[in-house]
Amino acid sequence: MIRVVFFDLDDTIVDTSRLAEMARRNAIENMIRHGLPVDFDIAYSELLELINEYGSNFGRHFDYLLRRLEVPYDPKLVAAGVIAYHNTKFAYLRTVKGARRVLIDLQRSGYRLGIITDGDPIKQWEKILRLELDAYFDEVFISDHLGVRKPHPKIFRRALRGMGVEPDEAVMVGDRLYSDIYGAKNVGMRTIWFRYGKYASRELDYLEYADFTMRSLEELPEILRGLRSEEETRSDQEVHAD
Ligand SMILES: [Mg+2]
Repeated sequence: MIRVVFFDLDDTIVDTSRLAEMARRNAIENMIRHGLPVDFDIAYSELLELINEYGSNFGRHFDYLLRRLEVPYDPKLVAAGVIAYHNTKFAYLRTVKGARRVLIDLQRSGYRLGIITDGDPIKQWEKILRLELDAYFDEVFISDHLGVRKPHPKIFRRALRGMGVEPDEAVMVGDRLYSDIYGAKNVGMRTIWFRYGKYASRELDYLEYADFTMRSLEELPEILRGLRSEEETRSDQEVHAD
């Protein structure tokens, strides 16, 4: 019987990619407004390239952007980028549509909830706390805190142990077929792929590891009800077989 529902965080519970895109665009616009002598599209694509190379948690995106654009270093321009970026992130941080309703529904149905996420532990907790999501979750497992990243089986096993359940008592919900779905399936969990955001058509080689696919988070309670009645039917059959 399913007792625990694990969620990925970014683009599963928190609408992260949309927010990041908005924040990056606003940062470039503000830099241009304060004198960056470069066309928006050129600066924006340079920033994306830089993030791709150095990672999204790199602390000096805007300094490096000036270097790449061969613009003389100007702290005012860096500050303009930083301000617009942070203001956007604070103002527009949102959950994915229906997330809160779904979490409440699942809690009421008796499921315990957990998060298994990759990323910087403080940044991940910031999102959880700012959105006041912590009360919904029994445990939060963050890869860079535990020293192992999805899809490594260790992080999923650690989460199962932390929640005190066996793999067949847990489902994993996430937007990444590779890290969330393939990873969780490997340790024996049921998997629900949330086909959402920038990974909606990527990593399709791993589609076979998804037990279910949903386009909206709001489909989740119905999928879990289906799983529950499937289990009840199975246990009825086992009783009759005895
Ligand atoms: Mg994700």
